[in-house]
Amino acid sequence: MKEQQSKNKKGEERWFESKSEITPHVQPIFQTSVYDYPDLESLDDYYNGRIPGGYIYSRNGLPNSNALGSRVASFEQMEKGLVCSSGMSALLVSTLSYLGKGDRITASNDLYGGTSVLLKDELTRFGIETTFVDASSPDIEIEGGTKLVLVETISNPTMKVCDLKTISKLAHDRGSLLVVDNTFATPFVVRPAELGADIVMHSGTKFLGGHGDVTIGLLCGRSKEMQRAAQFNTRVGTIAGPFDCWLALRSLATWEIRVKKSCENAIKLARFLEDRKDKVSRVFYPGLDSHPQHRLASRIFSRGMYGGMLSFDLRGGLGAASRFVKSLEKITLTPSLGGVNTTISHPGKTSHRHISEQQKRESGITDAMIRVSVGTEDYALIEEEFERALGKA
Ligand SMILES: *Cc1c(COP(=O)(O)O)cnc(C)c1O
Repeated sequence: MKEQQSKNKKGEERWFESKSEITPHVQPIFQTSVYDYPDLESLDDYYNGRIPGGYIYSRNGLPNSNALGSRVASFEQMEKGLVCSSGMSALLVSTLSYLGKGDRITASNDLYGGTSVLLKDELTRFGIETTFVDASSPDIEIEGGTKLVLVETISNPTMKVCDLKTISKLAHDRGSLLVVDNTFATPFVVRPAELGADIVMHSGTKFLGGHGDVTIGLLCGRSKEMQRAAQFNTRVGTIAGPFDCWLALRSLATWEIRVKKSCENAIKLARFLEDRKDKVSRVFYPGLDSHPQHRLASRIFSRGMYGGMLSFDLRGGLGAASRFVKSLEKITLTPSLGGVNTTISHPGKTSHRHISEQQKRESGITDAMIRVSVGTEDYALIEEEFERALGKA
């Protein structure tokens, strides 16, 4: 903190005075919406960028969000990070910062439900049209005039994997930016920047937050693009508050061991479910040989880990899905993901509730589909729960 800002007219001591002997072990929560300035000249210094790391008003930036953004950018090996109030606001910022009336987006037809609604029902009202394509297809095409391409590393709920290297080349040939939602995979599984992504987005609400207690979004990218995104974030006010940033930063101390354990448990559970052919007709997990993009996933997921998310279809239809859910004792029906506890969700009744039957069929979503966010428990406990519930399904 700069000394100018730490001077207190009332003479009160401030913990962050540069001469202070107090050194907090972790960053404290800066629960302040604004900072005092000693004189007019120091205001000029702030606006002219002569106070590096200076702060003025929390919508323009606050210490907790700067620390969080930098940390996530370092995991993604990108220059700069930016924190938004949710994953959705991060997506809004990642599109509207760069696009205007008449511009086109090419996006995966298999996006998170909230994202496709944002593109279809909101951005179109502002004259930004989206072409939806099968981003997992090897013959993907990007329409001329596309200014931004938006895909997810691993899609929901059928866990399709997209070939980021090919897509980034196609996008860049068109002169468009590639934005990758890396929420499901996390940088533990893959770092999209290494495959050509220009901007990487996270719903920090999921694996990076990891405890089901914070809603937050993140963007990472090169300084140039992030500077523009930060300006837009400040102008529209989609910033996250200090406490949410602090919680998310705290979670980042353990994200890697949490995600690693989830991945290890997920491959075991996927194999267990695949062996239960009596009850389970299909398992969707990129780590399985039976997954349509398994070879691609093995090539781009350099650690040989395939994420903590999987889905499966029960043989007995909606009735079996309902009995399965009721028979679980410790695992809860929770329409989110990425937490330390294993949770399940039913895409047909939650994220894909409002799409047509035909669209559901096309996306491979059935009434008997259960999606699992595999947690960090001792694997034996997870299998025990699944074994019991499958017995009743
Ligand atoms: C949850 C989620 C989002 C939206 O994030 P929020 O934090 O809920 O706003 C976007 N993309 C994916 C893949 C998600 O899982």
